[in-house]
Amino acid sequence: MRLLYVNAIPGIVNDVFKNKEPWQIVTMTSTATLATVWLWNFIFCQDKSLLERGKKQLFKLARYIPSIRDKINGELVKINETFENDVVHRLKEASFIVHLPKNGLNNEEILNLVRQFVHLGDFDWQAGRVSGAVYRVNNELKQLMGDVYTIASYTNPLHPDVFPGICKMEAEVVRIACHLFHGDEETCGTMTTGGTESILLACKTFRDYAREVKGIKKPEIVMPVTAHAAFDKAAQYLNIKIRAVSLDPQSYAVSIQAMRKAITKNTIMLVGSAPNFPYGTMDNIEAIAELGVKYNIPVHVDACLGGFLTCFMSDAGYNLPPSDFRLPGVASLSVDTHKYGYAPKGSSIILYRKKMYRHYQYTITTDWPGGIYGSPTINGSRAGGIIASCWATLMYFGYNDYVESTKKIIETTKYIERNLREMDGIFVFGTPATSVIAIGSNEFHIYRLSEALSVKGWNLNTLQFPCGVHICITHMHTQPGLADQFLKDVKSELSTILENRNTLTEGKLAMYGMSQSIPDRSVVGDFTKCFLDSMYYTKESETCQ
Ligand SMILES: *Cc1c(COP(=O)(O)O)cnc(C)c1O
Repeated sequence: MRLLYVNAIPGIVNDVFKNKEPWQIVTMTSTATLATVWLWNFIFCQDKSLLERGKKQLFKLARYIPSIRDKINGELVKINETFENDVVHRLKEASFIVHLPKNGLNNEEILNLVRQFVHLGDFDWQAGRVSGAVYRVNNELKQLMGDVYTIASYTNPLHPDVFPGICKMEAEVVRIACHLFHGDEETCGTMTTGGTESILLACKTFRDYAREVKGIKKPEIVMPVTAHAAFDKAAQYLNIKIRAVSLDPQSYAVSIQAMRKAITKNTIMLVGSAPNFPYGTMDNIEAIAELGVKYNIPVHVDACLGGFLTCFMSDAGYNLPPSDFRLPGVASLSVDTHKYGYAPKGSSIILYRKKMYRHYQYTITTDWPGGIYGSPTINGSRAGGIIASCWATLMYFGYNDYVESTKKIIETTKYIERNLREMDGIFVFGTPATSVIAIGSNEFHIYRLSEALSVKGWNLNTLQFPCGVHICITHMHTQPGLADQFLKDVKSELSTILENRNTLTEGKLAMYGMSQSIPDRSVVGDFTKCFLDSMYYTKESETCQ
């Protein structure tokens, strides 16, 4: 049958080009070839699926229709005003300083202003009313941080010959982390300014590694949908495609089967979270590491959130499957000292199994007139004061205190989880592995609970797809009586809500909830840009768009 076909082709082709001039034949065939190549590229060689691109194009065209454009712009103006009014409200009408003071202020004036600004805001974070955000406040440590920063504030590890001691402190922080996560003498890393930078650097490292060693030119990251937005950010910066893998509906951890299916010849890294931000559930890092070994793809463990809990958990009396360098497939691990390491904001660590990987993280400019310029992370100059503060925090608490604090935090989390599970009308997503508990409801809109608790002074995190809220338990929540206060407030708000389950959400969260149903995500993007703009609002000028 097929043979017949093949035999027939020359005849068909001859028929088509019968009576054509040679130039016509050349033009027709080359046009057809070019068109085929274009079509092939359009359909197959794209970051997004055909359907997704079609949808995007359609929404883009829709904005050319005046009535739709006016409607969207009208909404944007309204939203912008809401955001700006929020800012004014949050700042309690404090006036803005928009020019340099002619003469410098004196210390007392400055300190008073800083005190005033730091204590603006509606939520009592010092009393532990906020989910995550502030991991520990200890007055003695705060004093120490001030002193350490005072001493090291003008140092910069970019100049190791001038500030060798800052480099020593960084090296020690990295080495301590290598030991906590069971690395060997080949394990290495760098300090960074936060989890986002650690993650971005891991993505750059494996992109460049894959390009050089495997010749991958269209890099892809395979990761759970729950992996932190920092991976998406890295992908945007580094021109990498993300393949987001769905979760197992029971455990809310990534489906390993789906992950295996998402691996292609262009995969540069696999990601697992230990645990993830939205649900606090742990991906099956052992299984992901095995995939990594099997397909020879580096595995990154994102332990930004929970790393400084998980590494102390077995000593605190809790069993957890291994999620670090004990697993041969794990090539890198990010862990935030400025979360459960309790250091001031601005520090994190990225670790690699082998020195060879770290070389791909570095950037080197050999021929610059300013000299040979090599730097390990994104920044050139770096804050020596932050490195010293992080180092000092680790020294201040020591191993035993970290174990003790971990014990308290996990105990508090389990206590709250157990009690929430007993309440009517809500459910817990999966099994919290460390300190995050996410709840949802099949009976009412869960954002209503969040809104009601916010009125009572609790600031929780809202989740989408599906709707949920989570609380991230920190050392702040281990204060006596606080967990019970939270549970009491949840219980009483729940009973009010359950009395009239069909009321709609109000206020800001209503908008948040509504935004999930807007099919044109670029509109949601525009709203978000307005929100970011409002952070820079100084009541003079600046409107968004
Ligand atoms: C916080 C967090 C990050 C990013 O850290 P930043 O310090 O906010 O940049 C990454 N992954 C997880 C799971 C996190 O919770």
